[in-house]
Amino acid sequence: MEPKFLVDFMLGRLCKWLRIFGFDTEYFTSLNKNIIVYQSLKEGRILLTRDQRVSKNKALKVLLIDSDNYEKQIQQVLKELNLKVDPEKMFTRCCLCNTLLEPIEKEKVKDKVPSFVYQTQENFSFCFTCQKIYWPGTHWDLMRNKYTQIQTAR
Ligand SMILES: [Zn+2]
Repeated sequence: MEPKFLVDFMLGRLCKWLRIFGFDTEYFTSLNKNIIVYQSLKEGRILLTRDQRVSKNKALKVLLIDSDNYEKQIQQVLKELNLKVDPEKMFTRCCLCNTLLEPIEKEKVKDKVPSFVYQTQENFSFCFTCQKIYWPGTHWDLMRNKYTQIQTAR
């Protein structure tokens, strides 16, 4: 089964990257430890935290993140949980809100994307929660390159 994550407020960039990889990742902004523990247990999510005290909670599946550097954090998560990033699943989730993206017809995004993008791209996807439109392009290429960099640095 695919692992699901709950990421604490100190790990925003890690959270965004896990979503880019296609992992179901919720972001937790509250400082209330009881709620974070409750949500992690209730939804069966692996808690990723920088908080040593929370990480000692034996009831939880939890990984204490060592570094402040997000590239090192990504490396740690992939390595210690023995995860592989599936290229097919990259860019299937909204990196802002975790919603699975839906394909959307090109005609429907005509007035919503820059005309250069509309002219050069064929495939668009859409987040129904935050109404954001995504398309493959330079941004995704940059992300892919960054990921390759992170991976080879292991
Ligand atoms: Zn969204």
